[in-house]
Amino acid sequence: MSELILKPGKERSVFRRHPWIFAGSVERLEGRARPGDTVLVKDADGRPLARAAWSPNSQIRARVWSFDPEQSIDHAFIKRTVAASVARRQSHPVLSQQDGVRLIHGESDGLPGVIADRYGPVVVIQLTSAGADKWRDAIVAGLVQATGCVAVYERSDSDVRKLEGLEPLSQLAWGELPADLTIVENGVRMVVDVVGGHKTGFYLDQRDNRLLTGQLSRDRDVLNCFCYTGGFSLQALAGGARSVISIDSSGPALATAARNLALNPQLDASRAEWREDDVFQALRSLKAEGRRFDLIVLDPPKFAPSAAHADRAARAYKDINLLGFRLLNPGGILMTYSCSGGIGLELFQKIVAGAAADAGVEARIIHRLSAAADHPIGLGVPEGEYLKGLACQI
Ligand code: SAH
Repeated sequence: MSELILKPGKERSVFRRHPWIFAGSVERLEGRARPGDTVLVKDADGRPLARAAWSPNSQIRARVWSFDPEQSIDHAFIKRTVAASVARRQSHPVLSQQDGVRLIHGESDGLPGVIADRYGPVVVIQLTSAGADKWRDAIVAGLVQATGCVAVYERSDSDVRKLEGLEPLSQLAWGELPADLTIVENGVRMVVDVVGGHKTGFYLDQRDNRLLTGQLSRDRDVLNCFCYTGGFSLQALAGGARSVISIDSSGPALATAARNLALNPQLDASRAEWREDDVFQALRSLKAEGRRFDLIVLDPPKFAPSAAHADRAARAYKDINLLGFRLLNPGGILMTYSCSGGIGLELFQKIVAGAAADAGVEARIIHRLSAAADHPIGLGVPEGEYLKGLACQI
């Protein structure tokens, strides 16, 4: 096995159980390794520390599979780690009841670069690192065995694969996809398009926050911005909203949203209005129309994929939050999110506070929101906490 020798002092992050070894920490590689091969990580004095997957094309030069330097990384190890991750969901009383659940959340589940989401009988994987790509067969076999699923579909078409020198890929990895795939999330049936939808087909991370939105919606006029396939909108209707206006710029997403509404005859469809529009424009139009809402959801896409985009992203967040606060009735609630890795919670809260001040409203945080329990945050990997939200009442 090749050996990755760290620069002096660079062993500290490994001791803190951080799984990433950046290019700047690497003194040298002894021996040859192809992308994804396992390397033995050693400190500058030659003490073995961990076993990791080699990613020569990425700034994250290696990702730790095991902090036990004796642990052999093979088919059986990967399958065991997959099974343990699935078992944590199965033993969780709330998660085990869900049709749609994230089974593997990358680094925080000990499997860097591996995402696996279960939608009923189908598992969708996304492999974004050279190491994950190399162990595809073991990951798929582990998931099939641990879940008894009928199909594993691979949605490795995320841009981050390019950083690893990997080609985008979208393909059936095992079994056969059912013709129509739907899940029930907290009483609401939703279509999941695993082949053409965003990410792996659905935004599972917002499950708990969609439920909370429903609980806050009774007799309220609700505005759902960046609605995708209507997850927040349908929970609001289920919670007894008086009216729900939903906005997204994607026609296909809105078409699926309409199908979702039709799949749920228990909901009063006459209370729902869908608008295909740019949210930045639509919020201004709603203001001009003199509209007001009791509950507004802002769940935009990642404005800042990395810290380098933080400035522009901050202006975009400020803009929509300012417009959102201005559209609230007295006592109204703004539920606002950022899923940008490049914008931390502290900065996000500052932006929202600035927006409230500029809108001339006094607001207080009534809920701090994050991703659901199937998106754990490894204590050694705080970067895993990408989704943050604030429910602010004026
Ligand atoms: N809240 C959704 C997920 C939102 S994902 C859920 O719970 O499922 C972000 C959505 O924003 C995507 O559907 C994308 O089509 C939409 N979007 C991106 N930029 C937009 C813009 N400027 N105006 C309106 N929608 C936009």
